[in-house]
Amino acid sequence: MISAAAAREIVMAHVPVLPASPVPLLDALGLILTEDVVSGLAFPTCDSSAMDGFAVRVPDVAAATDAAPVSLTIAFTVAAGDTADRILPKGVTCRIMTGARIPSGADAVIMLEDVTEASGRITVREAIPAGEFIRPCGEDLLAGATILQRGTRLTPPRLALLAAIGRTEVMVHRRPQVAILSTGDEVIEPGQPLQPGQIYNSNAYAMAAWIQEAGAVPVRMPIVPDSLDATRRLLRKALTYDAVVTSGGVSMGEFDFIGKALASMGTVHFTRVAQQPGKPFTFATVGRKPIFGLPGNPSATMVGLELYVRPALRGMMGHPNRYRPMVLARLDEALTLKSDRMQFLRARVDHQPGGYTARLTGPQGSGLITAMAWANALLVIPTGTGRLLAGTGVTAMILEPELLLEGGLGGDLLTWG
Ligand code: AMP
Ligand code: MG
Repeated sequence: MISAAAAREIVMAHVPVLPASPVPLLDALGLILTEDVVSGLAFPTCDSSAMDGFAVRVPDVAAATDAAPVSLTIAFTVAAGDTADRILPKGVTCRIMTGARIPSGADAVIMLEDVTEASGRITVREAIPAGEFIRPCGEDLLAGATILQRGTRLTPPRLALLAAIGRTEVMVHRRPQVAILSTGDEVIEPGQPLQPGQIYNSNAYAMAAWIQEAGAVPVRMPIVPDSLDATRRLLRKALTYDAVVTSGGVSMGEFDFIGKALASMGTVHFTRVAQQPGKPFTFATVGRKPIFGLPGNPSATMVGLELYVRPALRGMMGHPNRYRPMVLARLDEALTLKSDRMQFLRARVDHQPGGYTARLTGPQGSGLITAMAWANALLVIPTGTGRLLAGTGVTAMILEPELLLEGGLGGDLLTWG
């Protein structure tokens, strides 16, 4: 049986990075640029006013003082959005709005608050330097400048920058569409009455949510009945998408058909991994498309989504960071473990004055779901670990990294306001 680390290496070696595609700006949030973006225009596009006020020629007000103020006639008004190239004659001023184009000849703007205005004239009591309250053409960026480099992740301000230069689409590694298949005659959809021996399809929600959180697009397909024919037929349909994730049907049971179906359709790379939970896990490729045959037990499904599916999907989207942050946490409690496999324990990590602490969130059986739901971390426990005393340092994979940043896990972060 291969180790979890080896399994992840095989998975990552077999997932293709999706080719560059044009994507509308807002659909590209969080995706990775595949082009160097060069601005076709300067920003601002022309000299423009930084204030509501009056544009002047600096020499006209050079002599203005409190004792000897200068009075100028307001010759015209330039509003934001006026595109005409106006000329400010000598000896007069014009009213101008924030963002409006500076007329030729004017070389400074006086703030509204700094003049008195009466009967179509303003009174200026102070000289001002050339360039005051003017945003020069190209101050922010010059035409021909590279504003974003390939490999950059698209955040909200970077999308705003692309819009500022007039782009509507951008070249990125697009989001993979991932087909989701739940197998099992006992599985029914939430919302229907549950008979003894049946189970709600929670795995489909886990799979869809994990895929969505990774930035990919989940595509739900019908529940696969326990028959080889139906399994083959639905897998074939699922393979029209970029990747496939299935739950259940990968153990040794008489009605476990995922492995058998995949063996006849493509290459099965492994079927078992030395980990707990999640030992039965079939990873296959059909052509270049990866298929993740996760086990049916809910915690095993979710640990598989976390350890393999999430990094693989991020890899397909060209993300430089595929893996979760890991921290050292001290056990709050003693643990007695017995396993010949690497364990991924569902736990809650908190920040205390001395560092991070960890405590299990409940019984760890792979068929249980609550401990995983209450966890914010997986403790990575090497094969062969026996008894761990309280206070022992363990590796914790943080599942809610925003908690680290927002202070929930980092009690010594600063606040403002
Ligand atoms: P299997 O790997 O197909 O033998 O499934 C193992 C166990 O996982 C089943 O007995 C169910 O209790 C559970 N299970 C399978 N599929 C699902 C599902 N879609 N949602 C929730 N639990 C499931
Ligand atoms: Mg089954």
